[in-house]
Amino acid sequence: MAIKPAVNGCANCSPLDLNNNYVQIINGKVAPTAQTRHGLNPANLKPKPEVPVATEADVDAAVAAAKEAFKTWSKVPYEERRKAVLAYADAIDQLRTEFRDLLISEQGKPIPQADSETDCAISWIRGMADIKLPEDLIEENEHRTVITRHTPIGVVAAIIPWNFPLLLATGKIAPALLTGNVIIVKPSPFTPYCGLKLVELAQRFFPPGVVQSLSGDDNLGPWLTSHPGVDKISFTGSTTTGKRVMESASKTLKRVTLELGGNDPAIVFPDVDVDAVAQKVAFYAFLNSGQVCIPTTPLLTARLTAQICLNLKRLYVHESIYEPFKAALVKHVQSYTLGDGSQPGISHGPVQNSMQFERVKTFFDDIEKQGWKVACGGKIEPSPGYFITPTVIDRPPEDSRIVVEEPFGPIVPLLTFTTEEEVIERANNTNMGLGASVWTNDLSRASRVARQLQAGNIWINTHFDLSPMAPFGGHKESGIGSEWGANGLKAFCNVQTLFLNKKVVTAA
Ligand code: NAD
Repeated sequence: MAIKPAVNGCANCSPLDLNNNYVQIINGKVAPTAQTRHGLNPANLKPKPEVPVATEADVDAAVAAAKEAFKTWSKVPYEERRKAVLAYADAIDQLRTEFRDLLISEQGKPIPQADSETDCAISWIRGMADIKLPEDLIEENEHRTVITRHTPIGVVAAIIPWNFPLLLATGKIAPALLTGNVIIVKPSPFTPYCGLKLVELAQRFFPPGVVQSLSGDDNLGPWLTSHPGVDKISFTGSTTTGKRVMESASKTLKRVTLELGGNDPAIVFPDVDVDAVAQKVAFYAFLNSGQVCIPTTPLLTARLTAQICLNLKRLYVHESIYEPFKAALVKHVQSYTLGDGSQPGISHGPVQNSMQFERVKTFFDDIEKQGWKVACGGKIEPSPGYFITPTVIDRPPEDSRIVVEEPFGPIVPLLTFTTEEEVIERANNTNMGLGASVWTNDLSRASRVARQLQAGNIWINTHFDLSPMAPFGGHKESGIGSEWGANGLKAFCNVQTLFLNKKVVTAA
């Protein structure tokens, strides 16, 4: 079955212009809107170009086109779908520097982290294209064969946050298409640019209606989650919004995958190299200015593995090394260079938007109100962008906001502990369960502690080593289900059991 892309003759296509004309795509065509809006570059608050604001009629049109496209796309043999998906990855790769620069200007992250996110966005597509979902033979005897297989669900709506606009888009597009679904991508209104260009580029590889985009305001998400024609929601965002998504999706029993917030602890035992571990822990606590991160080191040593990190949000350090650890942590944090991510030498960019900036500021207000001790940082200096000085709070009370809530900005609490049992109990004392890490030279202790932590992802002597081949998801209120890896692909499928009876029914 030959795949007929929405935009034909791609071999002769001119390169996609990533700097102008941000459009939404419905049924393979540009779908202009009467209203437009724009994002801001968070480093200087300059307006970025206009993007469409979708109407409810646009949602209806996209869902109708998706349903029609699903009829044929779901029947395209897997190997052909995979070939098209890999060709799409190659096309993104050819534009990687342009996508990287667009990401910096809309999201604010510094060059090395933007490089890493862009590379991961591409390698995640390729990685997931290497995962097979074979039929499982459950039973085979003279009477019958029983098989389970995975069938596509239908129309997927991908709802994406502002912290990883590129990776979290391809991380949903690839598995949806590989498993035979069609997808409507809704980027965050704060960071719509990379997502819209990814979908425009996809028209050169996929038939009309297979990959569509809708760009809108705060109405758009609820329109998608409540639309009876949408079959599955793949959502990444905050826990509060995730609960709304699930409530809305329940009306038509849509499938949901929810990747939500976290409050990740690091547990540092006394046998570590204090300076080396303080440097790493600081790195994982503050990268992407506390808004989830990708490290600055070259990541893609192997094609399919990469290291991405979400932030450490609570730092538990054994009391016997607390003072030297604090001094080392402060030294490393104070060496960071804060500024416009597009400039070389900048290690930390701004937070992404005014809403987040105002929220993080409330934690800084609490420093004085609650009498928290500051180990470093502690003030927000006036600047043209959403910049916040990386801040460490020295042993705040265990029930303070800074310990209990996810600030999602560059401010972390440094805490002490005495015994292994106590720190496990405190690390688990949260309704979040995204990740956790254990830092020690005693690997048997590390393994013992790791197995008692309640989170979807546990690391030893690192934080947030990820792979497109491994499932990623949260426990408790950090999410439902997982994305990536074989489990992630299965989340885009229904399970079908076939009972193949070998006896022909005859009259008795
Ligand atoms: P958010 O929940 O405010 O928004 C996420 C997306 O949902 C956006 O596209 C937004 O427009 C849309 N949305 C908002 N209200 C909606 C509604 N009622 N129905 C449907 N869609 C709606 O989150 P954010 O502020 O963009 O992102 C930050 C949050 O995302 C943090 O809490 C962070 O921890 C979480 N996050 C989790 C992961 C993970 O993998 N678990 C990864 C990245 C970010």
